[in-house]
Amino acid sequence: MLKKIIAIAAVGLAGMNYSFAQHTEQNHGYRFEQLGTMLRTPNVYRTASGAPGHMYWQQQANYVIDVELNDDNQSIKGSETVTYVNNSPDQLTYLWLQLDQNNRGKDSDTPKVTESSIGPRMSMRALEGILWHSDDYDVKIHSIKDSNGTPLHIAINKTMMRVDLPQPLKAGESFTFSIDWSFNITDRVGFIGGRPGYELFPKDGNYLYTMSEWFPRMAVYSDFEGWQNKQFLGSGEFALTFGNYEVRITVPADHMVGATGVLQNPEQVLSSTEFERWKRATQTYDKPVIIRTQAEAEQLEKGKSKDKKTWIFKAENVRDFAWTSSRKFIWDAMAVKLGGKDVMAMSYYAKEANPLWEQYSTRVVAHTLKSYSSHTFDYPYPVAISVEASNGMEYPMICFNYGRPDADGTYSEAIKNGMIGVIIHEVGHNFFPMIVNSDERQWTWMDEGLNTFMQYMAEQEWDRNFPSRRGPAHKIVPYMKSDKNLLEPIMTNSENIIQFGPNAYAKPATALNILRETVMGRELFDFAFREYSRRWMFRHPTPDDLFRTLEDASAVDLDWFWRGWFYGTEPVDITIENVNWYKLDNRTPAEKKAAAKAEFTRDETNVSRDFNAKDVPQTYVESDPATKDFYTTYNPFTVTPEDEDAYKKFMASLSEKEKALLNSNMNFYEMTFKNVGGLVMPLIIEFHYADGTSEIERIPAEIWRKNESEVTKVFPKQKEVVRFVLDPKRETADIDESSNYWPRQYQPTRFELFKGAGGVRGASMGDNPMKKAQNKK
Ligand SMILES: [Zn+2]
Repeated sequence: MLKKIIAIAAVGLAGMNYSFAQHTEQNHGYRFEQLGTMLRTPNVYRTASGAPGHMYWQQQANYVIDVELNDDNQSIKGSETVTYVNNSPDQLTYLWLQLDQNNRGKDSDTPKVTESSIGPRMSMRALEGILWHSDDYDVKIHSIKDSNGTPLHIAINKTMMRVDLPQPLKAGESFTFSIDWSFNITDRVGFIGGRPGYELFPKDGNYLYTMSEWFPRMAVYSDFEGWQNKQFLGSGEFALTFGNYEVRITVPADHMVGATGVLQNPEQVLSSTEFERWKRATQTYDKPVIIRTQAEAEQLEKGKSKDKKTWIFKAENVRDFAWTSSRKFIWDAMAVKLGGKDVMAMSYYAKEANPLWEQYSTRVVAHTLKSYSSHTFDYPYPVAISVEASNGMEYPMICFNYGRPDADGTYSEAIKNGMIGVIIHEVGHNFFPMIVNSDERQWTWMDEGLNTFMQYMAEQEWDRNFPSRRGPAHKIVPYMKSDKNLLEPIMTNSENIIQFGPNAYAKPATALNILRETVMGRELFDFAFREYSRRWMFRHPTPDDLFRTLEDASAVDLDWFWRGWFYGTEPVDITIENVNWYKLDNRTPAEKKAAAKAEFTRDETNVSRDFNAKDVPQTYVESDPATKDFYTTYNPFTVTPEDEDAYKKFMASLSEKEKALLNSNMNFYEMTFKNVGGLVMPLIIEFHYADGTSEIERIPAEIWRKNESEVTKVFPKQKEVVRFVLDPKRETADIDESSNYWPRQYQPTRFELFKGAGGVRGASMGDNPMKKAQNKK
C-alpha cells in the first residue's frame, strides 16, 4: 500500500515557487519540429496546402474488352483495345502494364521471397506455398498490336509488361493498341487462394467466379512516382489509372453476371420476369426486390446450359473493372437516393449465403453509401454491388464479401456482425481507394486505414452497440505493446509490414479516430477530412497531400501527430508521477506564529514533512557573544512589530480582487506527468471531488514541447480533489493504464487455472500478479 497519498503543504503565495523543471539531459527539440524535408517539395502539381496544383495532371486509360468465360475448364480468353491518353507534360517512349496473374506463375518472386519452415503439423495451403511453381497460371499474351495491326515489341518482367512505342508519345497525345490474352483461373478457396478465382461447390458441381486483376491493366504514370511498376508480390495492391470501360462478357446462358458499371442489354440477358422485377427495384427505396429468387437459382443449378449469352457493361471514370458470374446466383436490388440521384444497391449470393444475405446485404450496402457520403462526397457511381464469395475484396462498384451461415442455415452473432462489418468495409472501399485513388502498391494504410476509420463510423451509425473490431483507441493497445522487432511505422511499404492488419488497418484508423475525437474535435476534423476527400476524388493523392490538407483546413499543427503516429513506432504511456496539494496562506502573523509553535513542539522529530523550509522557524545559535543578548531574549514565535507592519503593508497593497483571491480558499494541485512510452499526447485529466462530482480538463499535447519526458502543471480547483484519473475515457491508447490513477489503483492481472497434465505452471512467487502490479511504477 502507498503510505502517503497526497502530500500536504501550507505555504505563502511567494512559497509557490514551483520552479521550472530541472533538465538533466536534452529532452526536447524533436517531437514538435515540423516535418519539413520529410515531405515532398511542393510544386505546380501538388501545393503546400495539400491540394492539387494549378498544373495538376493525370493519365487516362480507356478500355474496350471482349472476354469469354470457359466454365468447363475454368479459364478465360480476352481481347482488349486500350486507348492511353498522355496528359503528362512528358514524352513517353514506352508504357507499363500490370500482369497480376503472373504472381501465381513460374517466375513469380512471391514464393521465393517468402520465408518458409516445416512444422510437425502443416496445412495443405502452407505446403502448397512451398511447392508453388507452375506455369499453368501465367498469363499467355497471344498478340499485341497497334491500331494499324502492327505487332508491338514487349518485354515481360514477371508481373510487369513493357510495351515499346513505335514513336514517342508526346504530351497531350494518345496511343491505341490491342492485346489478346488468356489464362487459367485459380481455385481461390481450395488451392492457391488469393483475390480472384473460382469457388467450386462440390454438392452441385457448380462454380462461382470472382474475376479481378483479369486483364492487362495500365500502370500509373504520375508526377510523384513516374511509372509505378513495382512488382506485385501479393500484399501491396494496385495502382491504377482512371478511364472509361465497355466490357462484353460471354458466359454460359444460365449464368447471372454482376460487374463494375451499368448493364447495357438487360432485355437480352434477363428473362422478362427478371426484367420486370429489375424495373420495380429501380423504383423501390424501402427494401430490396428479389430479381432472381433462390428457387429459380436452385433450379438452374441442376442443369448446365450449352448456350451462351453476352452481358454488356459500361462504366465511366473508374480505375478498374471486376465481374462475377455463376448459375448459383440469387440477385436482389433496391434504389438509394443520394444527392438528388438514384444509386442501385444490390447483392449477388448463392443459396449457401441465405438466410443471412437476403436479409442484410443490400440494406448494408445502402447504409454504407449514405454513411460514407455524409463524411466525404455523394457516391458518384450508378451502382454498388455486394457479392458473397467467402472472402473479401474491393473493386469499383462491386466487391466480394464473406459471411455464410452454417449448412443448416443457422448462424452466430459473430458471423452476422462479421458479414455486416466486411460489407461496410468493402463497399466503403469505393471511396478509398477507388475514387480517392491512392497508390496501394506503395501505401496500404492510405486506403485500408482511412477506410477502416470510415467503417468504424458507419458500423456505429448502423448500430450504437456494434462490436467494432477496430477504431476505438484501447483496441490498438496490444499491438502498440508488442515486441519492437514486430513493429514498423505506418509509413512503411506494404510488402515490408509484419503485422499487416494492426499496422495498415487498425493503427491508422485509430490515429484518425483520435484526431477526430481527441486532438482536433469532430467539427474541425470532419471539415478537413471532407476537404481532403473532395480535393482528391477521382485523383491520385499521396500521404503528404493528406497530412497537409488536414492541417490546411483546420489550423491545427499536426506535424507532431504525423511524426509520432505515422513515422514512429513508440506507444503512448503517460503516467501521473506525483501530485502536490497547496493552499493559500491568508493567516495573520499571530495565527501563523501560533500554528508554527504548535507544530514545532508537537513533532520534535520533524521528519520528512513537506513544509517549505523558510516557513519553519530557525533554531537560534549561541555562537556570537556580541549578539548573545539578542538571541537569549529572542523568541521566534513572538509576533514582532516588524511582522505586524509588514502584514499591514501587504494587506494595504492588495486590491479588492487580490484580497478575494487570498481569501478564496482555493486548492492548487501541482501534477507531474511522465512520458514513459515516448509518443506525446494530450493530457486528459478527470478530477473527482470530495462532494462526489467530477470534471474533465484537456491539455493539448503541446504541453510537452519544452520537455518531452516530464511536465509539471498546476490545476487550481475550488473544490477538494480526492482522486485523479488520466485518460478516463481511454482515448489515447495508453499501454499501461495502471499508472493513470492518483492515488494509484491496482488492477488484478488475470491468470488461468487449468486441469490436466502439466503440473503447476507459473506458481512461483515471482509471478504473483499483485506483486507485479505493485512493482510497476
Ligand atoms: Zn480493405
